[in-house]
Amino acid sequence: MEFQEQKLEQFKGQPRLPEFAVPKHYDLTIKLDLSACTFSGRVLIDVSVIGPTKFLVLSALELLIHQVSFTNALNQKYVPCDFVVDGDDEILVLVFEEVLDVGIGVLEIEFSGVLNGQLRGLYRCSYMDKGEKKNMVATQFEAMDARRCLPCWDEPALKATFKIALENVPSELTALSNMPISEEKFYGHLKTVHFEKSILMSTYLVAIVVGLFDYVEDLTKDGIKVRAYCPVGKSEKGKFALNIAVETLDFYKMYFSMPYPLPKLDMVAVPEFSGGAMENYGLITYREAALLQDPLHSAMANIQRLTIVVAHEVAHHWFGNLVTMEWWTHIWLNEGFATWVSYLATDRLFPEWKIWNQFLFEITDGLRMDALEQSHPIEVEIEQAGSVLEYFDDISYRKGSSVIQMLENYLGNDIFQKSLGSYMKKYAYKNAKTEDLWSVLSETSKVEVNKIMNTWTKQKGYPVISVKLNGSTIEFEQTQFLSSSVDYGAQWIVPLTLSLSSYNKQKRFLLEAKLGKMDIEDDFCDPEKVGENWWIKVNVYQSGFYRVKYDNNLAAQLQKAIASNCLSAADEFGILDDMYALCEACLTPFSSLLNLMDTYKKDLEYIVLSRLINVCYNASKISGDAIPELAYDLKQFFINLLLSHAKKLGWDVIPGESQLNGLTREEVLMALASFDHPQTKEEAIKRFQAYLDDPNTSLLPVDTRKAAYVALMRNTSSLERSGLKCLQKLYREVDAIQEKTRILRCIGSCPDPVIVAKILDFLLTDEVPPQDAIYVLAGISLEGRAIAWTWFKENWDIIMKKWETGMLLTHFIRDIITPLCSHEMANEVEEFFASRTLPSIALNLKQSVELVRIKARWIEQIKQEQELLGELIKGLAYK
Ligand SMILES: [Zn+2]
Repeated sequence: MEFQEQKLEQFKGQPRLPEFAVPKHYDLTIKLDLSACTFSGRVLIDVSVIGPTKFLVLSALELLIHQVSFTNALNQKYVPCDFVVDGDDEILVLVFEEVLDVGIGVLEIEFSGVLNGQLRGLYRCSYMDKGEKKNMVATQFEAMDARRCLPCWDEPALKATFKIALENVPSELTALSNMPISEEKFYGHLKTVHFEKSILMSTYLVAIVVGLFDYVEDLTKDGIKVRAYCPVGKSEKGKFALNIAVETLDFYKMYFSMPYPLPKLDMVAVPEFSGGAMENYGLITYREAALLQDPLHSAMANIQRLTIVVAHEVAHHWFGNLVTMEWWTHIWLNEGFATWVSYLATDRLFPEWKIWNQFLFEITDGLRMDALEQSHPIEVEIEQAGSVLEYFDDISYRKGSSVIQMLENYLGNDIFQKSLGSYMKKYAYKNAKTEDLWSVLSETSKVEVNKIMNTWTKQKGYPVISVKLNGSTIEFEQTQFLSSSVDYGAQWIVPLTLSLSSYNKQKRFLLEAKLGKMDIEDDFCDPEKVGENWWIKVNVYQSGFYRVKYDNNLAAQLQKAIASNCLSAADEFGILDDMYALCEACLTPFSSLLNLMDTYKKDLEYIVLSRLINVCYNASKISGDAIPELAYDLKQFFINLLLSHAKKLGWDVIPGESQLNGLTREEVLMALASFDHPQTKEEAIKRFQAYLDDPNTSLLPVDTRKAAYVALMRNTSSLERSGLKCLQKLYREVDAIQEKTRILRCIGSCPDPVIVAKILDFLLTDEVPPQDAIYVLAGISLEGRAIAWTWFKENWDIIMKKWETGMLLTHFIRDIITPLCSHEMANEVEEFFASRTLPSIALNLKQSVELVRIKARWIEQIKQEQELLGELIKGLAYK
């Protein structure tokens, strides 16, 4: 290969590293200094130079580089004449005087850094040891933070093997990495720990944890050793997650026809952690609440969440770790699949949970985000390193998993599973792009998968399908669905499904153009056979990623079908959810939504009731701004809708009841408390008092505590602060992380802005760990939104200092901005951020402002219906 002239400038501003040298193996030694919170390192990298070069360019950030040399296969040593650390591009450029020839060499770098407190890279966090606060170490490298720990080729496609050693580890601490320990040497009270050489892996999956833990252990059927590392004295709480990991390892091996490639899997609860969990190869890290199960303090919702999270992280060991996306553009291959497969595994383990029904929450969150003009395609262009984390969002996880489900449904699960097996085999230890998966699926199914799926992954958004019945013909028309109701004319290839008055009579239709027609004469249109109570439901069981708008006749028939319990829970959910979305987009009047909601005054399965509650919350919030004089009556209507469920469930656990009752009870009682239903609040506070007097009382079962905390805070004001004091005292005294989290989620629900401001100040104290602030933000009352925005502006510098790095800042943006609801406020937000631009929040900011404007528009629309609404709402509330 010819040597081509290179210049330093050519490496700047590039999203990817140049390709003339790639790593094969890293021999990494890290020497820790836990008291000074620093580290020094030495890395020997086996590098393959594939094009003659005077430069080696690798990733590095916030590291001091001390010494560098390159030794080629002929044992000639080259020392760079210069090296440049570029903080903007996060690269280290090594400049050599002579040309490095093609071939293998060893790059040796000595460096040092700080154990930062930003929960990324190699970071410090603290744990309590007999009442004393001590330092420990953990890593979070995804997406692009391995470069904060060592100079490396920090891209998912540049897989290599790793041999890691840790020096100066206090001998009483446990040191963990991706591979098992091969050797430990003790030097007084310190030790050096060597780990076995890894398999081929991407840098973002490398991990190190050093801390004090107890563990529980079990084996899979294949003898893979699985451990859950928990805080000292709490290892029993790791048993549930341990069991899920063991079972899912066995399940995925079978499902993907591919064994787990490592000798062990460790899971560890890290006391300070920015995300929920991270699938490092062989060493999954979790925030404590995501790994520990507590029989006294874990609600049913916590238990299900834990199961899904463990199943998700273990699934990544196939989708992500073994077969890795070629670049972050394909992050959805990791996250969409792990999400979808986690439901598959959970359904196998706990069929009684009907967890696929709850997958509808994933779909609907994906639909909601993707209805924004500021959404993005599933396959996303990544231009700037700082923005990657923003794409770990509802599109990658939720839309990603939803389109997978739609495709699986279309191709059939046998073909789908078989294809995934072939895909794993073909790309194991390698990288893949979205089209690689499509071609494997096409080969097995003989369907042109890429033609269909490109319309879903390469463009943003999705369609709303308008359905009309014209004689014996069903007519379909697709238009792009946006909450702003703008239509950019995009089109999709939509695998439609429909059932005709019965789930035994289902039809499929591939809508490939804007319009489509389907004749149903033979099946359906004999009035003598069909009678009055016929119905047509499109998107059966809500397995497709689109919305449906029916003509008036079809909609009325469906409403009758709901009332007479002819439809599945998933379809009841879907009809309500689509109606809400159409209403928010001003495509259907508010009155139609309220009339439909009234149909749901009957027995409902958990997911339907949960969605109804969610719609009640949103409708109640918007009514406060759109029709304030009717807001109270509307609340009464919502209380009426929910009250019979609350009465049936009661406050106490019913022996032998379905586990799903726990979920329902938690949400219904909390909603009634939020809507200030006097009897619910009174009962809640009475039971809370009993709980305060005796923490072991059975009067406040774990699934009812949120309702109690919300009731307490709804009764708190600047004149009557005892509720807040009680809850803060409980927060300080209780040890269980689930209980602390629960309190934080509810504490912001106070209607008094003065108290909300106090709570937000509490958030800035050391009493609330930085990663837990997000729980408070998501629970701020509607009455507190204005003060929250003022507080946010006033404390911007402090917030930036504490949360700037990583994903946590995006929660502040979303949770504080989106409750606002006027164009004036949207303008104010834009003005505030005009001089405070950050790539790490840019997308979230735009989306949040758009959501504010969508609400402002909806409010105007509802105001125009005001006259008609008065009578309707009073009728619904007091009939
Ligand atoms: Zn994931």
